[in-house]
Amino acid sequence: MRRSAPFAFRLLLGRELRLWAEAGHAPVLWWRDDDARATGEALDKLLDFSRRHSAPLTLAAIAGPHLPALVRRVEREASVEIAIHGFKHINRQPEGRGFGEVVPEDSLEWVRAQLRATVMAFHRAGAQPTLFVPPWNNLAPQVVEAIGDSAITAVSAFDQEQGYGEGVARLDAHLDVLRWKGGGRFRGRWRFLSRMRRLMAERRLSRRWDEPMGLLTHHLDHDAATWAFLEQFLAAFPIQARQDVMSAAPRALTALSA
Ligand SMILES: [Zn+2]
Repeated sequence: MRRSAPFAFRLLLGRELRLWAEAGHAPVLWWRDDDARATGEALDKLLDFSRRHSAPLTLAAIAGPHLPALVRRVEREASVEIAIHGFKHINRQPEGRGFGEVVPEDSLEWVRAQLRATVMAFHRAGAQPTLFVPPWNNLAPQVVEAIGDSAITAVSAFDQEQGYGEGVARLDAHLDVLRWKGGGRFRGRWRFLSRMRRLMAERRLSRRWDEPMGLLTHHLDHDAATWAFLEQFLAAFPIQARQDVMSAAPRALTALSA
């Protein structure tokens, strides 16, 4: 953490970071943003944050009429990767069963066809994504299986250990700047930093120093407090590119239990 970090950062994370530094380590952080469909002011602001803080960004995008323009906009940014954020990002779960676009009754063939069509839509738009991010972080078993024989090489959901399954690597996000119950809004710096402190303590105590922690944002849902906190966070901590994190941490791999 940089010395100029705000007081709350030093108060909540200072001791934990000192313990890491004494052991010769620093947390490995990467950054994923979800729900991009089009260009716009919020996206420009996000890309500006990424550029100014030299923070590589994985942008999980949804295929649609505005995807080609989105890809062209992101192409101008050297360290922004486009990922596939589901097929259509439409919830198909029955009432009371949470959110997700693949239900248990969906056949593998149907899921394969959806994935193929989605990958093609990204290729037509000029992007060559290799990461799949399931909407609502709901990773159905059929999706994992379908990805095994596609152009996708990795998946990212929420709060699991990194791992490899049938040829599919997994790197999750863990630190959400928003809370979602009753509508997306800023999680609050205390809640966010307390969770980060807990994740760091878990990694330190089990000596999983290289196990990454993923920052998760949703640029279309950020209010002023969220943007302000994100700015402080990116100024305080170095962020690594998703591909670098995945190739550098093979020691921390565990079996994929999707
Ligand atoms: Zn989403």
